[in-house]
Amino acid sequence: MFESAHIDEAIAWRRDLHRHPELGFQEERTSKLIAGLLEGWGWQVQTGLAKTGVVARLGDGGASIGLRADIDALPIEETTGLEYASSHPGKMHACGHDGHTAMLLLAARQMAAEGVTGGNVTLIFQPAEENDGGARVMIEEGLFRQYPCDRVFGIHNWPGLAPGRLVARDGEMMAAFAIFEITIEGRGGHGAMPEQSDGVVAAAARVATALQELPARRLSPLVPGVVSVTQIHTGSAFNVCPDRAVVCGTTRWFQSDAGDEIETRLAEVVHGIAAAHGCRANIDYQRRYPATVNSAAEAGLARRVGEAMGLDAGEAGPSMASEDFAFMLNEKPGAYIWLGAARQGENPGLHSPRFDFNDEVLPTGAEFWVRLVRRALSV
Ligand SMILES: [Zn+2]
Ligand SMILES: [Zn+2]
Repeated sequence: MFESAHIDEAIAWRRDLHRHPELGFQEERTSKLIAGLLEGWGWQVQTGLAKTGVVARLGDGGASIGLRADIDALPIEETTGLEYASSHPGKMHACGHDGHTAMLLLAARQMAAEGVTGGNVTLIFQPAEENDGGARVMIEEGLFRQYPCDRVFGIHNWPGLAPGRLVARDGEMMAAFAIFEITIEGRGGHGAMPEQSDGVVAAAARVATALQELPARRLSPLVPGVVSVTQIHTGSAFNVCPDRAVVCGTTRWFQSDAGDEIETRLAEVVHGIAAAHGCRANIDYQRRYPATVNSAAEAGLARRVGEAMGLDAGEAGPSMASEDFAFMLNEKPGAYIWLGAARQGENPGLHSPRFDFNDEVLPTGAEFWVRLVRRALSV
């Protein structure tokens, strides 16, 4: 579908982005690069939505489709040793958002050259996917009021699937998530005289084990849910019982009543255990992203477009990982799609310091975008 020179240029943009990763809401350079290219091809471009987001439109009115690429990097120190490795210490494109951006740019160039008929296309280059919900901020700042979309689509490269595979599930695709920070406080004292202090360390340890058992005993075995304790911070000496411990982690679920149950039971378990050890607990529990749920019609459309390209398109998953495209799917019908991107040999996963987007699938993703638009607007 694409001129080979255009594919080479897209790979060069991808590697340039990889070399210059920017964290959520700080994607200034990335945003400039995107807007400059799109304007050059004749797209009507708006910058500054959710600080560093870029939105572009092309077409002749009528039906409208939104295509989203996330553009942010992660706070990870890259260890790939690539010649285009990150030049920004402690920052890295370890989730392939450099690839998502380049894929959508290559598609945008082709769409501008072919012209868009039968409706219009809105490109959504979204900041801050990784932690801060850039999708939610774009919506709050008027994304869909200014750029009405009948349906929206997002793609994520998926190293767990071979190139040539494409997955779009009907319904639940990625989990909802919350984070928690529990502070347990009691009297501290001498390590030799435990009866003179409260059991802060014991309470933190029991909280950690009890919380990880919570889904197994409080949710039906048929209902997915995760509670992972990922940090315990306490103590400073061999012979001192500390007066404070902090226990942090994350929870995941799909069904909202399971999410409510996990939050309620977590609080009961924490306060009960703290009280049993003579301690007090404070819980900071923050729900971050809702579940990513595809509409069946749009997931089916994505699979048919994939099949027409000769891809092995089907349903798999879901994953207990989370994704802020969920906020867009709460507003509009649409689908979140996994594009197979495994590498031969060593195949580091998403968020690994050795991860690098597989450029082999860049034209596949871009071709999928172009064909999806043609098909969606011809209906
Ligand atoms: Zn990620
Ligand atoms: Zn990602």
